[in-house]
Amino acid sequence: ETSKSLNFIEQIVAEDLQKGYTEKDLRFRFPPEPNGYLHIGHASSICLNFGLGLKHNAPVNLRFDDTNPAKEEQRFVDAIKRDVEWLGFKWDTERYASDYFQQLYDWAVVLIKKGKAYVDDQSSEEMAKQKGTPTEPGTESPNRNRSVEENLALFEAMKNGEFEEGSHVLRAKIDMTSSNMLMRDPIMYRVLHKAHHRTDTNWCIYPMYDWTHGESDYIEQVSHSFCTLEFAMHRELYDWFLDQVYEADKVRPKQREFARRNLSHTVVSKRKLAQLVEQNIVNGWDDPRMPTISGLRRRGYTPESIRNFADTIGIAKRDNLIDVSLLEFHVREHLNKIVPRVMGVLDPLKVVITNYPEGQEEWLTAENSPEDEALGTREVPFSREIYIEKADFKEAANKKFFRLKLGHEVRLKNGYIIKAESCTKDADGNVVEVQCTYDPKSKSGSGTEESLRKVKGTLHWVSVKHAIPAEIRLYDRLFTDESPDTHKDKDFMEFINPNSLEVITGYVEPSLATAKPQERFQFQRMGYFCVDPDSQPGKLVFNRTVGLRDSWAK
Ligand code: ATP
Ligand code: MG
Ligand code: MG
Repeated sequence: ETSKSLNFIEQIVAEDLQKGYTEKDLRFRFPPEPNGYLHIGHASSICLNFGLGLKHNAPVNLRFDDTNPAKEEQRFVDAIKRDVEWLGFKWDTERYASDYFQQLYDWAVVLIKKGKAYVDDQSSEEMAKQKGTPTEPGTESPNRNRSVEENLALFEAMKNGEFEEGSHVLRAKIDMTSSNMLMRDPIMYRVLHKAHHRTDTNWCIYPMYDWTHGESDYIEQVSHSFCTLEFAMHRELYDWFLDQVYEADKVRPKQREFARRNLSHTVVSKRKLAQLVEQNIVNGWDDPRMPTISGLRRRGYTPESIRNFADTIGIAKRDNLIDVSLLEFHVREHLNKIVPRVMGVLDPLKVVITNYPEGQEEWLTAENSPEDEALGTREVPFSREIYIEKADFKEAANKKFFRLKLGHEVRLKNGYIIKAESCTKDADGNVVEVQCTYDPKSKSGSGTEESLRKVKGTLHWVSVKHAIPAEIRLYDRLFTDESPDTHKDKDFMEFINPNSLEVITGYVEPSLATAKPQERFQFQRMGYFCVDPDSQPGKLVFNRTVGLRDSWAK
């Protein structure tokens, strides 16, 4: 492998291995906050961190960044674990920032004793005013020079629940004139009288992200802590906090940043996705329209297709928007290789084969996949009345219409050649039935001269008598705008596509009667479909994962 094929994050690790780190020193982590479900953006971070672990045979921790009890819940922890596992990755140990609350508290006391942290009881407005601006230095808090004893007593009182929420904070004493606003005496702790999903009411002070993240990396001896670009300015603070507790001979974690991945026609932010759930725009976090890992799974995506997508887009240094059609390309490519092909008619038109004896039926042999012989064959029933797609018949059409038209022939997939002779219309002039004749010698695979006869156009179909009605959910983009959350004057919710879900009743071949949730199929000519968990014996429900080709009109 040449260094050219490494992305810049992999290069950082490769260079460190040349500068004295050994593979034994390497340890990575994936650090989600359990305040929602993982989305396709997280998949990039998961593939990056776990990919590095696999490559260097190094452990990767799953660390829950759970320092905000107001937003975090056990059900999100459970969903995150399920999704990381489903994507195919194994973490070394499961960690929680909340496991470190005591250690973080003890270190905060050390900082106070060193004169590097103080309790501030000004209002948040007052402190904001003193922060200054990027071009003007801030002003020091009048509480900045409290004695160590007073700070220790106040911090303990904070911990003991003697103060109201928002009344006191612990701040690091760094530099109110720093050009980096984050270094202007950042908050380390705040008072929050809220129960935590793991520590319950043991604590009523909670550490801030910056104070928690680097120290957690240090406790776990993570060598490389990769995060997204918005944390670039936080790196100086990350390092300052580490300086306060670092002991020689330990691995010193290193924060490096990569670009957030955005996907077109959706939003990838747990907070915004939570809004869609709370306002019932979608039916939960795993709604197949959601860009969550759970939503994609329910829609029919495979872990491989998501990993291949993440590998293809790679790791970037600048934020960018990836077209969702690339994600769809990857799932199509994978499903094409692995799933059986079946026949399902979404918008039925009845065809009567007038020279086929009434009451007769036969079972035709159909190949399950031209891509994989191992998938075998199945039997498909044929009878005098079948359904084809409405769009596959026209009374008259030009030469480019290779489907059924009066006086012309098509082949029925796995079956016979039929010819349209006449049609019946309703009062509004809509065709409601087509009468055809079939060529009894033309059966596919029968070896006769007629069976080899080439006709332009092959249609999928189902036998009316044997077909099973199924609920079919067809999905469109959740947002009409390519980048709904980047408009200065408009909220992303204004771009919701009102037609993102269409529910229809289709008719599928009887081999699907026993299909189980999560089973995937190609409905020939109609796309890839996956059985929804709402499906029950006798009441099938399918989600369309994706069409057969990119049909999104730009
Ligand atoms: P969100 O706004 O969706 O909550 P977050 O960054 O706050 O995103 P975390 O749970 O903290 O979510 O993310 C866990 C890890 O995944 C972090 O390292 C974060 O940088 C990374 N990550 C989150 N979103 C993306 C994205 N769109 N692209 C790449 N990495 C991401
Ligand atoms: Mg975060
Ligand atoms: Mg977040």
